[in-house]
Amino acid sequence: MIGSGTDPSLLSGPNSMKDVIDMAYDVMKTDEEWRALLGDDRFAILRQAATERPWTGELLEEHRAGTYSCGACGAELFDAGTKFEAHCGWPSFYEALRPEAVELLEDRTHGMVRVEVRCATCGSHLGHVFPDAPQTPTGDRYCMNSLSLRFTPA
Ligand SMILES: [Zn+2]
Repeated sequence: MIGSGTDPSLLSGPNSMKDVIDMAYDVMKTDEEWRALLGDDRFAILRQAATERPWTGELLEEHRAGTYSCGACGAELFDAGTKFEAHCGWPSFYEALRPEAVELLEDRTHGMVRVEVRCATCGSHLGHVFPDAPQTPTGDRYCMNSLSLRFTPA
């Protein structure tokens, strides 16, 4: 009977397929390959989800127009027009260039429940997103590591 109970096809159909797709990225490398490509500092953040010390990132004071790309695979992630001064010590953006450019995952490490932001193309760790920026159009603060990003001036 249609309309009553849970449709089992919702559980076994597109949803489970998406889970499988989410496990694979367009760009995939071994840890050894990533470390050789990125160097130790970028590897620790992008591939091991470390966080750079606040107020140390080279992109903190970057105010030019341009595009921020994934520091690992080069996928375009943020437009400089969405960067704002959050006074938190890390470069912050209020939205991704395209919603599908990033993926959001629940992160329960360090005794907190946070939302981790990863590059949707290669799965690399970028930072976290917090809903604590009411001064922006979206209210969101994508709190990113400078070392997770590369900036290309317009
Ligand atoms: Zn990437």
